[in-house]
Amino acid sequence: MNGIDPPSNLRAHQAEQVLELVWGDGRTDRLGYHHIRANCPCASCRDEWTGERILDPATIAPNLKLEGMEGIGNYAVRLVWSDGHSSGLFTWETLRNLGQDSE
Ligand SMILES: [Zn+2]
Repeated sequence: MNGIDPPSNLRAHQAEQVLELVWGDGRTDRLGYHHIRANCPCASCRDEWTGERILDPATIAPNLKLEGMEGIGNYAVRLVWSDGHSSGLFTWETLRNLGQDSE
């Protein structure tokens, strides 16, 4: 078994620009859209080999919205942003780590 269990609840709060995840162990993470978008793991936002961030967080639209979420198997979700970016696959582990980072 690789990774962690999917959240039991996943909800986008558009007005607040927050993605709320409720995990099986009872933990709740509220992740700001900008924080998530800035940590997009796709090849155009992050160097595949060095892990270095290519995306400049200052270029992220302030009014960023989440336009869609698509589950990938039971290990990840693909997030579709209002700026047209939709290639980021966020594993549950990545999202969980983002929540821990922001504490
Ligand atoms: Zn990306």
